[in-house]
Amino acid sequence: MKLQNKIAVVTGGNSGIGLAAAHEFKAQGARVVIIGRNAEAVARAAGEIGGDTVGITADVSRVADLDRAFGQIREQLGRVDVLFANAGIAKFLPFGEVTEEFFLEQTAINVKGAYFAAQKALPLLPDGAAIIFTSSTVAHFGMPGSSVYSMTKAALINLAKTLAVELAGRKIRVNVVSPGPITTPIFSKMGLSAAAAGELGGAILAQVPLGRFGEAGEIAKAVAYLASSDAAFVTGTELLVDGGMAQA
Ligand code: NAD
Repeated sequence: MKLQNKIAVVTGGNSGIGLAAAHEFKAQGARVVIIGRNAEAVARAAGEIGGDTVGITADVSRVADLDRAFGQIREQLGRVDVLFANAGIAKFLPFGEVTEEFFLEQTAINVKGAYFAAQKALPLLPDGAAIIFTSSTVAHFGMPGSSVYSMTKAALINLAKTLAVELAGRKIRVNVVSPGPITTPIFSKMGLSAAAAGELGGAILAQVPLGRFGEAGEIAKAVAYLASSDAAFVTGTELLVDGGMAQA
C-alpha cells in the first residue's frame, strides 16, 4: 500500500497500460481518476477498477478539454499527487507518405496532450508529487515507418528531464517509463490487416532479447515504483521496461 491516500490521475486510463496502472494504483491504496476520450469505455473501466474511481471523458489533444478535466478534479478532489500522462496513439507510415494530418494527429495526442496534461495538473500538484510520462523503447533506435511516432516519444524524454529540473524546487519528481512491445489494444487500432499485424508482431518479437511481448501489468509495476516514495531520489530519468529491446 505504497500509495495510501494518494490521488492518482491516469490519462488513457481506460485501456491497456493506463488501465493496468490504474488497477495497480488502486491496489496500492490510491484514489484513482481515469481520463479517456470514449465516454462509454471510461465509464466501463472506472466501474471495473471499482470503489470510488472517477472517470472523466476528455480528448487530451484539446487544451480546453484538459482545462475542464482538471477543473473537475480540483473541485472534486482538490489535488493530484500522481499524474501518469500516458494517453497515446501509434501509427506508422513510410516517411514519404506522411501527411500533415497524420503528423499533427500523433503530435497533438502524444506530445501536446502529455505536455498540457502536466501543465494543467501543475496547480494541483503538492510538493513531492510525481509525474510520469509514457515514452517508448523506440525513442532509442531507428524503426522504419515510425518517424512521427518515435519522434513524439523521444520528445517526452526531454520534457521529463526539463521539468524535473524546473520543478525540483517544489520537490516534484518527473520521470518516464519506456515500454517495449506490450500486449494491449494499441496494435488493433493501427488500421493493419490481420496478416500485416501478424507480420509486424513477428518482426518486433525477433528484436526482443527476452523473447516475448511484455504485459501491461509489468509496466504498471514500474510506474507505481516511480510514483511512490521508493523513488524519492529518482527524477529526470527513464525506466526502460522493454525486455532489453533498446540494447539489442
Ligand atoms: P491503448 O490503445 O490500449 O491505450 C491508449 C489509451 O490512450 C486509451 O485509453 C485511449 O483512449 C487513450 N487515448 C488515445 N488518444 C486519446 C486522446 N486524444 N484523448 C484521451 N485519451 C486518448 O494502448 P497502450 O498500449 O496501453 O498505450 C498506452 C501508452 O503506451 C501510449 O502512449 C503508447 O504510445 C505507449 N506505448 C505502448 C506500447 C505497446 O507496445 N503497447 C509500447 C511503448 C509505448
